[in-house]
Amino acid sequence: MAIERTLVLIKPDGMQRHLAGLSIDRLENTHLELVGAKIATVTDKLAREHYALLEGKGPFVDKKLFEHLINFIKGEYHGDPKHRVLALVYQGENAVQGIRTAVGVTNPEDASPDTIRGAFGRICRKHGYFENVVHASGNLEEAAREINIWFKPGEIID
Ligand code: UDP
Ligand code: MG
Repeated sequence: MAIERTLVLIKPDGMQRHLAGLSIDRLENTHLELVGAKIATVTDKLAREHYALLEGKGPFVDKKLFEHLINFIKGEYHGDPKHRVLALVYQGENAVQGIRTAVGVTNPEDASPDTIRGAFGRICRKHGYFENVVHASGNLEEAAREINIWFKPGEIID
């Protein structure tokens, strides 16, 4: 089986609620290898690059919802003037699916309570978007694209 890499972000809700440690604990239970980690400042440019492929698609035909997603990942709704997320790269066999399974499905109300999103996520009643604590790449192509956005090659251990 091929060795894969995948990107995880501890989103601003996870950072504000000090859920980074608990989230990483669950990710570590996959026994995948952690090969990259850093605190990143989410600029408007970085947020829009990360979510570029979602703009105008699916639920994001609603432009307002997309702007809430951008504001959310920038930490605007979680009182972080430093706009921090924790970015991680996990590596190993079936890493993309393995991490997605630990993370759970997108809507925290549908996610199994055994998953990070199911245990800790919520729906923002005010703006209608999902505060689901962590991001995880959805497939191999997304993973390659996203790792390239958040990390320089030298920042990942081979
Ligand atoms: N999202 C949302 N409402 C939706 C769909 C997605 O608020 O109806 C948010 C949610 O935070 C999600 C992110 O947009 O994690 C990216 O959406 P995607 O469809 O890529 O879900 P994911 O891959 O994160 O499960
Ligand atoms: Mg996705």
